Amino acid sequence: MILPKKNLKEIQSDLDSGLYSMSDLLMGYIGQAKQHESLNVYIEIYESEAKEEAGRIDRKIKNGDRLGSLYGCVISVKDVISQKDQGLSAASRILEDYKSPYNATAIERLLEEDAIIIGRTNCDEFGMGSANENSIYGPTKNGADAERVPGGSSGAAAVSVQMNTCLIALGSDTGGSVRQPASFCGVYGLKPSYGRISRYGLIAYASSFDQIGILGYDPDDIGRVLEVAAGKDPMDATSSSQKVNSYDKIDVKSNPKIAYFPSLIDHEKLDESIRVNVLQKIEQLRSSGASIIAKDFEYADYLVPTYYVLTTAEASTNLSRYDGVRYGHRSNSSKNLEEMYVNSRTEGFGKEVKRRIMLGTYVLSEGYFDAYFTKAQQVRKLITEEMDKVLDECDFLILPTSTSLPWKIGEMAGDPISVYLSDMYTVLANLTGLPAISIPSGTNNEGLPFGIQLMSKKYSEYDLLSIAKSLKSTNS
Ligand code: GLN
Repeated sequence: MILPKKNLKEIQSDLDSGLYSMSDLLMGYIGQAKQHESLNVYIEIYESEAKEEAGRIDRKIKNGDRLGSLYGCVISVKDVISQKDQGLSAASRILEDYKSPYNATAIERLLEEDAIIIGRTNCDEFGMGSANENSIYGPTKNGADAERVPGGSSGAAAVSVQMNTCLIALGSDTGGSVRQPASFCGVYGLKPSYGRISRYGLIAYASSFDQIGILGYDPDDIGRVLEVAAGKDPMDATSSSQKVNSYDKIDVKSNPKIAYFPSLIDHEKLDESIRVNVLQKIEQLRSSGASIIAKDFEYADYLVPTYYVLTTAEASTNLSRYDGVRYGHRSNSSKNLEEMYVNSRTEGFGKEVKRRIMLGTYVLSEGYFDAYFTKAQQVRKLITEEMDKVLDECDFLILPTSTSLPWKIGEMAGDPISVYLSDMYTVLANLTGLPAISIPSGTNNEGLPFGIQLMSKKYSEYDLLSIAKSLKSTNS
């Protein structure tokens, strides 16, 4: 079937009226995924399980049985989120043959509401990267230009939506991994507040930063999936008990107050076409009634260093569990226990992951702990306080999503520091635990997409989605 570019509400009314069946729709998505196989999006498509599920939904529709709120919603899942009895590799050799014995809480909740999972998507190893190039499965390609990266680490998640192989993609965002690929691929990407969605079943990278995020091509669909996935979970002590309202009942803020930081928008690292676009968006918001407020922000050059000191520290401890004993790959060329640990990790981890484990071990080491780790924690606190002040006064902060447009595959391979620096705008939300969304905002003269970003107060994801929606209607 020719796939409709429709949102969930429209799909559900088509299913109700029998315009097409769930099985037809699923086959449309699977066909689309196969047609774009060369982009290297899926590690695995769950064709037979998904077809069975689609048949079950079709029977429910036919019999008039009660349907979950997400019937009709086909979802791809980044390969860092556990799905019972499916492979779970984090795109790493160390977990290549690992199967998950249980579902992540988010997955459990989506399935209960009749969503269908189409398959698991490629990513950067353990979520470490900005281009989806650090994967044992090879790089994923951007659907807008197959010579270019889709962003990362949830690059394939973004392409899965971009190429209409599913309606929604689940990714994870530790420092921008949902929003930056959303920007590179021209789709929406939401990182909810820290704790909004349970991390139970999400492979840990940096636990005080990690959050499951949602990509889609319509903000309404993201809101409906968030409503189901969010909420307190006894399996994750850091999950929030803050009430999850019904997404249908959101109030659209009229005449919002929107802050921006000239120090971030004037930054030398920002691509010129993105700068021009952000400034235009600010004007557009002003003329539609928003109050725009320029604010000083003196931490621009501390964001990336603070993020990389703290996340590598957390990663080095989180990844110590992969020792060849409990999980995944075990080297068989070792003479004793010590050698087995060393060889399993040496063979199992890729270059970027090793770089980060070493960096993290260094900043946590006795002689450097205070100079790096403690200092970075202090800076994190200052940045958080500053952001809380700004968002006490204003409803939103507007900023770019990424410093750059999608680069060519392989182009940045020898320059990890430049890649780290391109995360400048996204890490702010993870350092502070605040929600943020990347909104498609245009293309450059070569047709490469890019987004802009909005942040808001903790737990006000629906405000972000409603402003995203209002921008969508003025864009089109
Ligand atoms: N690019 C960032 C990093 O490599 C963000 C990754 C992420 O959000 N998982 O750490």
